[in-house]
Amino acid sequence: MEAKLYDLHAHSNCSDGVLSPQALVERAHTNGVSHFSLTDHDTLLGLNEARAQAAALGMTFINGVEISTKWSGHSIHVIGLGFDDTAPVLCAALAELAVARESRGEKIAKKLERHFEIDNVYQKAMALSGGGVIGRPHFARILVEAGMVKNMKVAFDKYLGNGKLADVKLESPTIADAVEWINSAGGIAVLAHPHKYKLTRTKLNTLMSEFASVGGGGVEVSTATTTPDDVQKISKLAIVHNLLASQGSDFHTPDDLWADLGKFAPLPASMTPVWSRWG
Ligand code: MN
Ligand code: MN
Ligand code: MN
Repeated sequence: MEAKLYDLHAHSNCSDGVLSPQALVERAHTNGVSHFSLTDHDTLLGLNEARAQAAALGMTFINGVEISTKWSGHSIHVIGLGFDDTAPVLCAALAELAVARESRGEKIAKKLERHFEIDNVYQKAMALSGGGVIGRPHFARILVEAGMVKNMKVAFDKYLGNGKLADVKLESPTIADAVEWINSAGGIAVLAHPHKYKLTRTKLNTLMSEFASVGGGGVEVSTATTTPDDVQKISKLAIVHNLLASQGSDFHTPDDLWADLGKFAPLPASMTPVWSRWG
């Protein structure tokens, strides 16, 4: 029997990834992933397609989502794993977020259209998103493709980032909201990529403490961008706060050679993995 390999964090074109759910699962399979979760931003749209493809390839599929929350001025991502994707509270909450995101997308599109004198920005973003969640990376790609900026980074630095011309704020749920939605749907809430928030050790400790106290069950210890130092630091805090350990690539596109499906360090042997919950 082949070794088990869990990748519990990846994006399709239902949010800001570039592959369809089906193509994503095929790539995960090619890379040796046996247990896979699709965790698109704030949407469950790709789950059925991904689950069907995983079944066709003999892989185990775990329902997933990555919810953007606000905590103490930081944008903190909460991953839900193994929930019932028909649970009414979770579905209603995500539907509400989608409405808010849509009106924000329309505002961003208008600002870019006015500034650059280009047309149909919202329609182009919709096409890029494949009918999924529209986010700022879609608008960045439109500016790159229209030749208005030389790359995605410049698009964010000059136009889409904090305080820039086309920065439109999105009202975010709290960590406690997201955790409650996931828990009420029978899933486990996992604090995504703690190393990415640039928090001091004290602040990270507070975040993990609060996350656990509102019902969070796990933390991402290993992703494609965690350093061995990060893994050690996060593992220690996970044990202190009684959080299970998760892992995943946070894959978005085959162009990111440093973040491919199934490619990240294994969890330290001292950690209890989230999948211990699923038997
Ligand atoms: Mn993303
Ligand atoms: Mn994230
Ligand atoms: Mn992600």
